[in-house]
Amino acid sequence: MQNLPASMRAAVYRGDQVVTVDALPTPSPGPGEVLVEVSHCGICGTDLHLVIEGMGQPDSVGGHEYAGRIAALGADCDGWSVGDRVAVDPNTPNCGQCEYCRVGRAALCTHRSGIGASVGTGAFAEYTLADVRQLLGVPEDVSLRDAAIMEPLAVALHGITQSRIAPGQRALVLGAGPIGSMVLAALRARGIEDISVSEPSPIRRELALRLGARRAVPPDELAPAKSIFDVADDAADAVFECSGKREAAEQGLAMLRRAGTLVILGTGITRPRFDSMRILLNELTVTGSYNYDPDGLAEALALLRDRAVPIEQLVESVDVPLESLGETMRSLAAGEIGAKVLVVPRPPD
Ligand SMILES: [Zn+2]
Ligand SMILES: [Zn+2]
Repeated sequence: MQNLPASMRAAVYRGDQVVTVDALPTPSPGPGEVLVEVSHCGICGTDLHLVIEGMGQPDSVGGHEYAGRIAALGADCDGWSVGDRVAVDPNTPNCGQCEYCRVGRAALCTHRSGIGASVGTGAFAEYTLADVRQLLGVPEDVSLRDAAIMEPLAVALHGITQSRIAPGQRALVLGAGPIGSMVLAALRARGIEDISVSEPSPIRRELALRLGARRAVPPDELAPAKSIFDVADDAADAVFECSGKREAAEQGLAMLRRAGTLVILGTGITRPRFDSMRILLNELTVTGSYNYDPDGLAEALALLRDRAVPIEQLVESVDVPLESLGETMRSLAAGEIGAKVLVVPRPPD
């Protein structure tokens, strides 16, 4: 570790929506850990919950959607070298043995980390530690900047798996923020062409149209089924709730065709109320979507390598330094920024 600085810059959450950039000791990797020099780290909806809604622990460093280069190796990191280009699964490793892992439902592993636990975070900093089992090598023809969206793209792919949608069917995406726009792009990559989007922010509606939505409307222009015996005129086979808003989830249930599936991807604080009679009479499925398919992160890297999703639309063209993190989070929470924002922790050389 001889060439590493003793301290590094990190964006630290101080409470009350305040983020400061401070010098912290550069962490040193223990057995089975590597130190990653962070190239780019995306700002996630979870980061907004932690900072803007104040759910985070004061004095913590967020950021879990990242890629970079290995800067140092702890013991027992065979097969990896300093300088390797990596993207990281920010979760604790799945056990591979429990009843869920054995049937391919790794997202439900009984040993998974607690929700909101600070596992794998800390990439709003020049360096962060990662578990060597959670590394994915970034293919040569994928930039580290592009690889930083591997994680949210894998989240979108899992949502699509949960929906069981097939080409020829119709999708409705509620909320075209960072998750909704990834879902939209991933649906197109998976051959789904008839996609509607409901989104209050005009710039996000424009983004949705650029990403290939057939139509993008404000939420009050959707026409949900009026009674539990009706099906909406523009009803969808699968509805993807990506806004975290109670009203959207409730509206989404009434936008389903018979036998349709509502997939919950947005994390919300206010709980929706679902009409059980609508579910019963129409044989609807309501399901959550948590983390990724067992091979989801590798599949996301493959989509990035194949340019199967329009990365330049999904990611804002201007990256931000650590100093702008707090301000950028406020703009994201207000819907003033359409696409994913990447943070570059290291000043250009
Ligand atoms: Zn995330
Ligand atoms: Zn397991």
